[in-house]
Amino acid sequence: KLFNTIQELRGNIRVFCRVRPLKEATLTSGLPAKVVVSFPDAAADDENSRIQIGPKCFEFDHVFPPVADQKAVYDETAGVVASVLDGYNVCVFAYGQTGSGKTHTMSGPEEDRGVNYRALVDLFDIANQRSEFQEVNISVSMVEIYNENLRDLIRGNNKSTPPKLDIRKDPSSQSPNAVHVPNLTEITVDSVEAVWGLMERGSQNRRQGKTNMNEHSSRSHLILKVMVTCEDYSSGVKSSGLLHLVDLAGSERVGRSNVSGERLKEAQHINKSLATLGDVFMSLLSHNNHVPYRNSKLTYLLQDALGGDSKTLMFVNVSADDSDSSETLSSLQFAQRVA
Ligand code: ADP
Ligand code: MG
Repeated sequence: KLFNTIQELRGNIRVFCRVRPLKEATLTSGLPAKVVVSFPDAAADDENSRIQIGPKCFEFDHVFPPVADQKAVYDETAGVVASVLDGYNVCVFAYGQTGSGKTHTMSGPEEDRGVNYRALVDLFDIANQRSEFQEVNISVSMVEIYNENLRDLIRGNNKSTPPKLDIRKDPSSQSPNAVHVPNLTEITVDSVEAVWGLMERGSQNRRQGKTNMNEHSSRSHLILKVMVTCEDYSSGVKSSGLLHLVDLAGSERVGRSNVSGERLKEAQHINKSLATLGDVFMSLLSHNNHVPYRNSKLTYLLQDALGGDSKTLMFVNVSADDSDSSETLSSLQFAQRVA
């Protein structure tokens, strides 16, 4: 089958592009909204895989136009999520400029939830279906990376918080790539509601002491890690898989000339970690022996779920608005290197 050939050539990285609807402000500014992207496959209905901006056309595994809803987006994602229960390690990323719909895609509003929630609903559903012959254990942790520092969002900022979280090689694992973070809170969960409760607590902890939450969240990476272990009742055979759901920091270039101090430092950390993510993908795709996981906390933390037989799904979130076209172009170019 053709798919297998593609799989062998391209490894286990898939790229989906999602285009957000025009911003309210644009629609109400009185000026005609200028849409800068188009979909050459539009006639082919849901078989969209190309997006055009100016003279440039990009092709991805799937392109979701603004009308695609949360369910349509998740339906394409479900397969890779379910493979966690078969022992695969999976990373789902949302990449794009601030305001392009990363958080909408991953978390979504309560009444229209995104990939995170839907993925957990699926995992618990499949676990229940298997409950007659398998014990499935699901636990979660939630980490923020800001200026190359890790923060445990479930534990929060109380006095017992360890001053610094470090990433270490996991001595208990046979996999040479396995990492762990000593002292990071991991909580066993038995329902989607329990996970949602933890995520609410996590976002409250993330918000704490921040005057502008939107700004802060756009300058840090948020990682929800879901650990799944399965044990067959009859054979005792165990397997385990990891699912990382990652809402990345905004990819926009911060003009070097007009920022300094804290802003410049943040921008440098973000640029470094997103560039390292791209470098890691590139070395995996070209089968390099040295993959520069350790060049950023983000890739180091995720290293046992990037490469090998792990599966990666990257959403590149973009805006259709003319005024965002240079960031849209640069996001599409980043994603194209990987696709
Ligand atoms: P980011 O996390 O990339 O900074 P957000 O997900 O916060 O961007 O999106 C910015 C705003 O646009 C939010 O108010 C969000 O609800 C809205 N938005 C983004 N994508 C969509 C979409 N596909 N459909 C409806 N609203 C969206
Ligand atoms: Mg966001």
